[in-house]
Amino acid sequence: MNTETAAYLGLGSNIGARESSLAEAVRRLNALEGVRVTDASPLYETDPVGYTDQPPFLNMVCRIVTAYSPEALLEATLGIERELGRTRDVRWGPRTIDIDILLYGDATIETPDLTVPHPRLAERSFVLVPLMDVLREEERDWRPGFRERVVDGAGVRIWNSSSWRAAFGHSES
Ligand code: ATP
Ligand code: CA
Ligand code: CA
Repeated sequence: MNTETAAYLGLGSNIGARESSLAEAVRRLNALEGVRVTDASPLYETDPVGYTDQPPFLNMVCRIVTAYSPEALLEATLGIERELGRTRDVRWGPRTIDIDILLYGDATIETPDLTVPHPRLAERSFVLVPLMDVLREEERDWRPGFRERVVDGAGVRIWNSSSWRAAFGHSES
């Protein structure tokens, strides 16, 4: 029986050493006993959305394969946020690291602590652009409409980093 599930996580950072925080978060995810990171998108610099009086973000998306339940995965990601100094002051405000569960297999989840697919996914270019870099063809039907989706990349700029490319091995873009 295969008890592993593929999932997509959206990560963002807009204070401190943004790229190092993202790299460290991906490393810590991969170091979890129940998680293997299979793909990491390039980095994008993005204009803040929602609460706009804050510095630009670096955003990226990774694909993982996990043995954790959605709830256990959320707990693990919140733990990594805490370890990397995440605090919650202003809603949608500045943060050293944010890790959101975008998709967990084809599951639909609505509990007080967890909504999957992530409810604001479809309206966020800063998530959709990197997601489309890593979303596998055979996993596109997990969320209705993804296959046909044309993403408006306004406010989302590729962030060229040779250290990121060296660490996470995606092709030049
Ligand atoms: P947004 O959810 O709009 O991206 P945010 O990431 O700033 O905003 P947080 O303060 O990081 O919000 O998260 C608040 C709570 O959201 C978390 O403690 C968690 O319980 C809940 N949550 C619900 N669905 C998800 C999900 N798919 N991924 C991560 N957290 C989620
Ligand atoms: Ca978020
Ligand atoms: Ca979050």
